[in-house]
Amino acid sequence: VYVLGIETSCDETAAAIVKNGKEIMANVVASQIESHKRFGGVVPEVASRHHVEQITLVIEKAMHEANLSFAELDAIAVTQGPGLVGALLIGVNAAKALAFAHQLPLVAVHHIAGHIYANRLVTEMKFPLLALVVSGGHTELVYMKEHGSFEVIGETRDDAAGEAYDKVARALRLPYPGGPHIDRLAHEGRATLDLPRAWLEDGSYDFSFSGLKSAVINTLHNAEQRGETIEIQDMAASFQESVIDVLVTKTIKAAQEYHVRQVLLAGGVAANRGLRTALEQKMAELQEVELVIPPLSLCTDNAAMIAAAGTILFAHGKRSELSLNADPGLELE
Ligand code: ATP
Ligand code: MG
Ligand code: FE
Repeated sequence: VYVLGIETSCDETAAAIVKNGKEIMANVVASQIESHKRFGGVVPEVASRHHVEQITLVIEKAMHEANLSFAELDAIAVTQGPGLVGALLIGVNAAKALAFAHQLPLVAVHHIAGHIYANRLVTEMKFPLLALVVSGGHTELVYMKEHGSFEVIGETRDDAAGEAYDKVARALRLPYPGGPHIDRLAHEGRATLDLPRAWLEDGSYDFSFSGLKSAVINTLHNAEQRGETIEIQDMAASFQESVIDVLVTKTIKAAQEYHVRQVLLAGGVAANRGLRTALEQKMAELQEVELVIPPLSLCTDNAAMIAAAGTILFAHGKRSELSLNADPGLELE
Protein backbone atom coordinates (compact mmCIF):
# COMPACT_ATOMS: atom_id res chain seq x y z
CA VAL A 1 0.00 0.00 0.00
CA TYR A 2 1.45 3.33 -1.12
CA VAL A 3 0.10 6.53 0.44
CA LEU A 4 1.00 10.08 -0.47
CA GLY A 5 0.92 12.38 2.56
CA ILE A 6 0.55 16.15 2.38
CA GLU A 7 1.15 18.56 5.29
CA THR A 8 0.77 22.36 5.28
CA SER A 9 -0.67 23.18 8.71
CA CYS A 10 1.95 25.71 9.74
CA ASP A 11 5.25 26.75 8.24
CA GLU A 12 6.53 23.68 6.48
CA THR A 13 5.26 22.58 3.07
CA ALA A 14 5.68 18.82 3.04
CA ALA A 15 4.90 15.78 0.91
CA ALA A 16 5.92 12.16 1.47
CA ILE A 17 5.25 8.67 0.21
CA VAL A 18 5.06 5.86 2.74
CA LYS A 19 4.80 2.15 1.96
CA ASN A 20 2.57 0.00 4.19
CA GLY A 21 2.42 2.79 6.77
CA LYS A 22 5.99 2.10 7.90
CA GLU A 23 8.54 2.53 5.17
CA ILE A 24 9.50 5.99 3.93
CA MET A 25 9.93 6.09 0.13
CA ALA A 26 10.28 9.89 0.00
CA ASN A 27 10.02 12.63 2.61
CA VAL A 28 10.27 16.18 1.28
CA VAL A 29 10.03 19.21 3.59
CA ALA A 30 10.31 22.83 2.45
CA SER A 31 10.77 24.93 5.58
CA GLN A 32 9.87 28.62 5.70
CA ILE A 33 11.72 29.41 8.91
CA GLU A 34 14.03 31.90 7.19
CA SER A 35 11.05 33.96 5.98
CA HIS A 36 9.43 34.11 9.42
CA LYS A 37 12.60 34.68 11.47
CA ARG A 38 12.69 38.44 11.08
CA PHE A 39 9.12 38.67 12.39
CA GLY A 40 9.96 36.53 15.44
CA GLY A 41 7.18 34.06 14.67
CA VAL A 42 5.02 32.58 11.94
CA VAL A 43 3.09 35.20 9.94
CA PRO A 44 -0.05 33.50 8.53
CA GLU A 45 -0.19 35.43 5.23
CA VAL A 46 3.49 34.79 4.56
CA ALA A 47 2.96 31.10 5.32
CA SER A 48 0.03 30.76 2.91
CA ARG A 49 1.93 32.42 0.09
CA HIS A 50 4.92 30.13 0.58
CA HIS A 51 2.69 27.06 0.58
CA VAL A 52 1.11 28.12 -2.72
CA GLU A 53 4.55 28.58 -4.26
CA GLN A 54 5.96 25.31 -2.94
CA ILE A 55 3.16 22.75 -2.86
CA THR A 56 3.31 21.50 -6.46
CA LEU A 57 7.11 21.35 -6.46
CA VAL A 58 7.23 19.48 -3.17
CA ILE A 59 4.67 16.87 -4.27
CA GLU A 60 6.42 16.37 -7.62
CA LYS A 61 9.75 15.97 -5.88
CA ALA A 62 8.33 13.35 -3.50
CA MET A 63 6.76 11.37 -6.37
CA HIS A 64 10.02 11.55 -8.27
CA GLU A 65 12.13 10.39 -5.31
CA ALA A 66 9.77 7.49 -4.65
CA ASN A 67 9.88 6.70 -8.36
CA LEU A 68 6.11 6.20 -8.48
CA SER A 69 3.32 7.36 -10.76
CA PHE A 70 -0.04 8.52 -9.37
CA ALA A 71 -1.62 5.36 -10.79
CA GLU A 72 0.52 3.31 -8.40
CA LEU A 73 -0.74 5.15 -5.29
CA ASP A 74 -3.51 3.70 -3.13
CA ALA A 75 -4.61 6.84 -1.31
CA ILE A 76 -3.82 10.48 -0.54
CA ALA A 77 -3.67 11.55 3.11
CA VAL A 78 -3.77 15.21 4.06
CA THR A 79 -3.67 17.27 7.26
CA GLN A 80 -7.16 18.69 7.76
CA GLY A 81 -6.34 20.52 11.02
CA PRO A 82 -5.57 21.95 13.47
CA GLY A 83 -3.36 24.76 12.22
CA LEU A 84 -3.54 28.03 10.32
CA VAL A 85 -6.64 27.96 8.14
CA GLY A 86 -5.03 29.64 5.13
CA ALA A 87 -2.09 27.27 5.32
CA LEU A 88 -4.21 24.13 5.75
CA LEU A 89 -6.38 25.07 2.76
CA ILE A 90 -3.44 24.90 0.38
CA GLY A 91 -2.68 21.29 1.31
CA VAL A 92 -6.34 20.22 1.44
CA ASN A 93 -7.06 21.72 -1.99
CA ALA A 94 -3.97 20.15 -3.54
CA ALA A 95 -4.96 16.76 -2.10
CA LYS A 96 -8.54 17.09 -3.34
CA ALA A 97 -7.43 18.10 -6.84
CA LEU A 98 -5.05 15.12 -7.08
CA ALA A 99 -7.61 12.70 -5.64
CA PHE A 100 -10.17 13.87 -8.19
CA ALA A 101 -7.78 13.91 -11.15
CA HIS A 102 -6.37 10.45 -10.44
CA GLN A 103 -9.51 8.89 -8.93
CA LEU A 104 -7.78 8.13 -5.62
CA PRO A 105 -9.32 7.82 -2.16
CA LEU A 106 -8.80 10.85 0.09
CA VAL A 107 -8.12 10.49 3.82
CA ALA A 108 -8.21 13.45 6.22
CA VAL A 109 -5.67 13.29 9.07
CA HIS A 110 -5.44 15.16 12.38
CA HIS A 111 -2.03 16.84 12.65
CA ILE A 112 -1.39 15.50 16.16
CA ALA A 113 -2.37 11.97 15.14
CA GLY A 114 0.34 12.45 12.53
CA HIS A 115 2.93 13.49 15.14
CA ILE A 116 2.05 10.37 17.15
CA TYR A 117 2.20 8.07 14.11
CA ALA A 118 5.71 9.31 13.29
CA ASN A 119 6.63 6.63 15.81
CA ARG A 120 5.28 3.88 13.57
CA LEU A 121 7.99 4.80 11.06
CA VAL A 122 10.48 3.78 13.76
CA THR A 123 8.93 0.72 15.37
CA GLU A 124 5.68 -1.23 15.73
CA MET A 125 3.20 0.38 18.11
CA LYS A 126 2.18 -1.74 21.11
CA PHE A 127 -1.12 -1.06 22.82
CA PRO A 128 -2.16 0.28 25.19
CA LEU A 129 0.28 3.13 24.83
CA LEU A 130 0.80 6.67 26.02
CA ALA A 131 2.04 9.48 23.77
CA LEU A 132 3.58 12.66 25.12
CA VAL A 133 2.91 15.25 22.41
CA VAL A 134 5.00 18.38 22.85
CA SER A 135 5.02 20.85 19.98
CA GLY A 136 4.68 24.51 19.09
CA GLY A 137 0.92 24.47 19.56
CA HIS A 138 0.23 21.40 21.70
CA THR A 139 1.20 19.75 24.96
CA GLU A 140 -0.86 16.64 25.52
CA LEU A 141 -0.76 13.21 27.07
CA VAL A 142 -2.71 10.91 24.76
CA TYR A 143 -3.79 7.41 25.74
CA MET A 144 -4.36 4.94 22.89
CA LYS A 145 -5.94 1.56 23.53
CA GLU A 146 -5.78 0.65 19.83
CA HIS A 147 -5.04 2.12 16.41
CA GLY A 148 -7.06 5.23 15.64
CA SER A 149 -8.35 5.63 19.20
CA PHE A 150 -7.15 8.77 20.99
CA GLU A 151 -8.01 9.76 24.54
CA VAL A 152 -6.51 13.04 25.73
CA ILE A 153 -5.89 12.47 29.46
CA GLY A 154 -4.05 15.75 30.00
CA GLU A 155 -3.34 18.94 28.09
CA THR A 156 -1.99 22.42 28.59
CA ARG A 157 -4.33 24.99 30.05
CA ASP A 158 -2.40 27.90 28.55
CA ASP A 159 0.86 27.90 26.59
CA ALA A 160 2.18 24.85 24.77
CA ALA A 161 5.67 23.70 25.74
CA GLY A 162 7.17 24.85 22.43
CA GLU A 163 5.36 28.16 22.71
CA ALA A 164 6.87 28.66 26.18
CA TYR A 165 10.32 27.88 24.78
CA ASP A 166 9.83 30.39 21.96
CA LYS A 167 8.51 33.12 24.29
CA VAL A 168 11.28 32.65 26.85
CA ALA A 169 13.82 32.65 24.01
CA ARG A 170 12.44 35.96 22.83
CA ALA A 171 12.80 37.40 26.37
CA LEU A 172 16.43 36.21 26.27
CA ARG A 173 16.81 37.91 22.84
CA LEU A 174 17.50 34.62 21.05
CA PRO A 175 16.44 34.05 17.43
CA TYR A 176 13.20 32.32 16.41
CA PRO A 177 12.46 29.45 16.85
CA GLY A 178 14.04 29.56 20.26
CA GLY A 179 13.70 25.96 21.43
CA PRO A 180 16.97 24.67 19.98
CA HIS A 181 18.90 27.72 21.28
CA ILE A 182 17.63 27.29 24.84
CA ASP A 183 18.37 23.58 24.65
CA ARG A 184 21.98 24.31 23.62
CA LEU A 185 22.51 27.05 26.24
CA ALA A 186 20.94 24.90 28.97
CA HIS A 187 23.74 22.39 28.53
CA GLU A 188 26.32 25.12 29.14
CA GLY A 189 24.68 26.47 32.31
CA ARG A 190 23.53 25.36 35.74
CA ALA A 191 19.95 25.34 37.00
CA THR A 192 20.66 27.73 39.86
CA LEU A 193 17.57 29.95 39.58
CA ASP A 194 14.46 29.13 41.52
CA LEU A 195 11.58 28.82 39.04
CA PRO A 196 8.07 27.45 39.63
CA ARG A 197 6.68 24.11 38.53
CA ALA A 198 2.95 23.96 37.83
CA TRP A 199 1.84 20.58 39.20
CA LEU A 200 -1.85 21.67 39.31
CA GLU A 201 -4.40 19.67 41.32
CA ASP A 202 -3.50 16.30 42.73
CA GLY A 203 -3.94 13.61 40.09
CA SER A 204 -4.26 16.05 37.18
CA TYR A 205 -2.33 15.31 34.00
CA ASP A 206 -2.87 18.83 32.71
CA PHE A 207 -0.01 21.24 32.17
CA SER A 208 0.52 24.99 32.50
CA PHE A 209 3.56 26.89 31.30
CA SER A 210 2.49 30.53 31.29
CA GLY A 211 3.33 31.02 34.99
CA LEU A 212 6.83 29.71 34.39
CA LYS A 213 7.24 31.98 31.39
CA SER A 214 6.14 35.01 33.46
CA ALA A 215 8.51 34.01 36.27
CA VAL A 216 11.42 34.00 33.81
CA ILE A 217 10.45 37.43 32.45
CA ASN A 218 10.01 38.87 35.97
CA THR A 219 13.31 37.47 37.17
CA LEU A 220 15.12 38.99 34.20
CA HIS A 221 13.33 42.31 34.69
CA ASN A 222 14.05 42.51 38.43
CA ALA A 223 17.71 41.69 37.92
CA GLU A 224 17.97 44.38 35.27
CA GLN A 225 16.42 46.98 37.59
CA ARG A 226 18.84 46.09 40.34
CA GLY A 227 21.71 46.28 37.92
CA GLU A 228 22.52 42.60 38.42
CA THR A 229 23.36 40.24 35.61
CA ILE A 230 21.93 36.78 35.13
CA GLU A 231 23.90 34.32 33.08
CA ILE A 232 21.73 33.45 30.09
CA GLN A 233 23.00 29.85 30.25
CA ASP A 234 21.85 29.51 33.86
CA MET A 235 18.42 30.92 33.01
CA ALA A 236 18.12 28.52 30.08
CA ALA A 237 19.15 25.59 32.30
CA SER A 238 16.73 26.57 35.07
CA PHE A 239 13.82 27.04 32.66
CA GLN A 240 14.54 23.78 30.85
CA GLU A 241 14.81 21.87 34.13
CA SER A 242 11.43 23.16 35.25
CA VAL A 243 9.71 22.22 31.96
CA ILE A 244 11.29 18.77 31.82
CA ASP A 245 10.64 18.01 35.48
CA VAL A 246 6.88 18.46 35.02
CA LEU A 247 6.68 16.75 31.62
CA VAL A 248 8.65 13.69 32.69
CA THR A 249 7.07 13.29 36.13
CA LYS A 250 3.51 13.41 34.76
CA THR A 251 4.34 11.10 31.86
CA ILE A 252 5.85 8.45 34.15
CA LYS A 253 2.92 8.69 36.54
CA ALA A 254 0.37 8.28 33.72
CA ALA A 255 2.34 5.40 32.21
CA GLN A 256 2.10 3.57 35.53
CA GLU A 257 -1.53 4.38 36.22
CA TYR A 258 -2.67 3.33 32.75
CA HIS A 259 -0.43 0.23 32.63
CA VAL A 260 0.85 1.02 29.13
CA ARG A 261 3.30 -1.08 27.16
CA GLN A 262 4.88 1.83 25.34
CA VAL A 263 5.55 5.54 25.81
CA LEU A 264 5.93 7.52 22.59
CA LEU A 265 7.45 10.96 22.33
CA ALA A 266 6.04 13.22 19.59
CA GLY A 267 6.15 16.80 18.30
CA GLY A 268 8.87 19.37 17.69
CA VAL A 269 9.92 19.71 21.35
CA ALA A 270 10.74 15.97 21.28
CA ALA A 271 13.92 17.19 19.59
CA ASN A 272 14.98 18.56 23.00
CA ARG A 273 18.11 16.79 24.18
CA GLY A 274 17.40 17.43 27.85
CA LEU A 275 13.90 15.97 27.55
CA ARG A 276 15.10 12.91 25.65
CA THR A 277 17.81 12.17 28.19
CA ALA A 278 15.60 12.72 31.23
CA LEU A 279 12.84 10.54 29.83
CA GLU A 280 15.31 7.79 28.92
CA GLN A 281 16.77 7.82 32.44
CA LYS A 282 13.42 7.81 34.25
CA MET A 283 11.86 5.25 31.93
CA ALA A 284 14.76 2.87 32.53
CA GLU A 285 13.37 2.47 36.06
CA LEU A 286 10.01 1.31 34.71
CA GLN A 287 10.20 -2.32 33.79
CA GLU A 288 8.39 -3.66 30.72
CA VAL A 289 7.53 -0.23 29.34
CA GLU A 290 9.26 0.60 26.09
CA LEU A 291 10.23 4.18 25.28
CA VAL A 292 10.18 5.24 21.62
CA ILE A 293 11.70 8.51 20.44
CA PRO A 294 11.69 9.26 16.70
CA PRO A 295 14.72 10.82 15.01
CA LEU A 296 14.69 14.62 14.94
CA SER A 297 13.56 14.86 11.31
CA LEU A 298 10.38 12.95 12.15
CA CYS A 299 9.67 14.97 15.35
CA THR A 300 9.19 18.31 13.60
CA ASP A 301 6.49 18.81 10.97
CA ASN A 302 6.70 16.44 8.00
CA ALA A 303 4.33 14.57 5.71
CA ALA A 304 5.66 11.05 6.29
CA MET A 305 3.89 11.10 9.65
CA ILE A 306 0.65 12.17 7.92
CA ALA A 307 0.99 9.34 5.38
CA ALA A 308 1.72 6.88 8.23
CA ALA A 309 -1.40 7.92 10.17
CA GLY A 310 -3.43 8.08 6.93
CA THR A 311 -2.48 4.51 6.04
CA ILE A 312 -3.92 3.17 9.30
CA LEU A 313 -7.11 5.22 8.95
CA PHE A 314 -7.41 4.06 5.33
CA ALA A 315 -7.01 0.43 6.42
CA HIS A 316 -9.81 1.01 8.94
CA GLY A 317 -12.09 2.20 6.16
CA LYS A 318 -11.83 5.95 6.56
CA ARG A 319 -12.60 7.90 3.36
CA SER A 320 -13.08 11.67 3.06
CA GLU A 321 -15.37 13.38 0.58
CA LEU A 322 -14.09 15.73 -2.10
CA SER A 323 -16.07 18.40 -0.25
CA LEU A 324 -13.51 18.10 2.61
CA ASN A 325 -12.71 21.44 4.23
CA ALA A 326 -9.77 22.55 6.36
CA ASP A 327 -10.64 22.74 10.06
CA PRO A 328 -8.28 24.97 12.09
CA GLY A 329 -9.82 23.80 15.39
CA LEU A 330 -10.16 20.08 14.60
CA GLU A 331 -10.42 17.89 17.73
CA LEU A 332 -8.31 14.76 18.14
CA GLU A 333 -10.82 12.55 19.95
P1 ATP B 1 1.75 21.92 16.25
O1 ATP B 1 2.35 20.62 15.87
O2 ATP B 1 1.27 21.95 17.65
O3 ATP B 1 0.73 22.39 15.27
P2 ATP B 1 4.14 23.15 15.21
O4 ATP B 1 3.87 22.24 14.07
O5 ATP B 1 4.49 24.56 14.96
O6 ATP B 1 2.91 23.05 16.22
P3 ATP B 1 6.42 21.58 15.63
O7 ATP B 1 6.95 21.89 14.27
O8 ATP B 1 5.98 20.21 15.91
O9 ATP B 1 5.28 22.56 16.08
O10 ATP B 1 7.52 22.04 16.69
C1 ATP B 1 8.07 23.34 16.68
C2 ATP B 1 8.38 23.72 18.12
O11 ATP B 1 9.41 22.86 18.64
C3 ATP B 1 8.90 25.15 18.27
O12 ATP B 1 8.20 25.76 19.33
C4 ATP B 1 10.39 24.96 18.61
O13 ATP B 1 10.93 25.99 19.41
C5 ATP B 1 10.34 23.64 19.35
N1 ATP B 1 11.64 22.98 19.37
C6 ATP B 1 12.36 22.51 18.32
N2 ATP B 1 13.55 22.00 18.74
C7 ATP B 1 13.57 22.13 20.10
C8 ATP B 1 14.49 21.79 21.13
N3 ATP B 1 15.66 21.23 20.86
N4 ATP B 1 14.14 22.09 22.40
C9 ATP B 1 12.96 22.65 22.70
N5 ATP B 1 12.06 23.00 21.78
C10 ATP B 1 12.35 22.74 20.50
MG1 MG C 1 6.57 24.09 12.41
FE1 FE D 1 3.44 20.04 14.32
